[in-house]
Amino acid sequence: MAPRTPKRRTVQHFTHIHPLTEFNSAGDFICDGCKTYGSGKTYRCEPCNYDLHDYCATCPLTLPTFIHPKHELSLVVRKQQSTRQNERACDICNESVEGLFYRCKLCEFDVHPLCAASSAREARASPCSSLGVSARSS
Ligand SMILES: [Zn+2]
Ligand SMILES: [Zn+2]
Ligand SMILES: [Zn+2]
Ligand SMILES: [Zn+2]
Repeated sequence: MAPRTPKRRTVQHFTHIHPLTEFNSAGDFICDGCKTYGSGKTYRCEPCNYDLHDYCATCPLTLPTFIHPKHELSLVVRKQQSTRQNERACDICNESVEGLFYRCKLCEFDVHPLCAASSAREARASPCSSLGVSARSS
């Protein structure tokens, strides 16, 4: 009797008070986590018009990464401040970072979550590491 609504994934993210629901955006959106553009899948809170990238909604709180092998990066949220005393830029793309980003406090190393993710992906796609694609077909 209940309408067959497909079950959507929801996440509770520490940057927002409400649960966020998986949503396929028709156009571009601005991620309310890392404040950069995204398209396609988002995690969204409809009443608040709050969007997070798929990655921003699900990325780990700490990230050991080869980009910065000495220390683990931690996911932090920078609140909007009226006093812009320390402008920060992503160490990968050099765009400014606000909102959600990965940081190494000791080195003042900052990267966007998606920049960290994409450079990790590129490294994994290097020819040295075999992808081990299954050749089996039944
Ligand atoms: Zn984002
Ligand atoms: Zn909300
Ligand atoms: Zn970046
Ligand atoms: Zn460091």
